[in-house]
Amino acid sequence: MTARPRPVPDAASAGYWSAAAARELHLARCSVCAAYSIPPGLVCPLCGSTAPEYTFQPVSGEGVVRSWTTVHQAFLPGFDVPYVLVDVELAEQDGLRMIGRLLDGPGAELRIGLPVKVDFEDLGEGVLVPAFRLTAGAA
Ligand SMILES: [Zn+2]
Repeated sequence: MTARPRPVPDAASAGYWSAAAARELHLARCSVCAAYSIPPGLVCPLCGSTAPEYTFQPVSGEGVVRSWTTVHQAFLPGFDVPYVLVDVELAEQDGLRMIGRLLDGPGAELRIGLPVKVDFEDLGEGVLVPAFRLTAGAA
């Protein structure tokens, strides 16, 4: 099987990937308004600052499912289909949305509002990718 593509951290994402390698979710936070931003852009989407300096800070990784899709077509090598992508609204901030794989698999029963928590896929050699799992006990 072909290996999955691996993330290539740059200056704007290094803090995210180094935290993920330690099984923590850190997100970029605007130096002007303290809002989190995914991904950090040249303009802060919340305060409109054109020169925000972002620092990566830890978040809980908890959120709720807003939407999801099941991927049946392998567009990139190394991804076994089918798999589920969830659109999660994180607990830290209204409208803070993050998309990731759902590690519970394509058979998971989903509905809007179900709680999830970040988990990590280990690609080996110290590379971990944030993903999500349904919170234990969710019904
Ligand atoms: Zn801002």
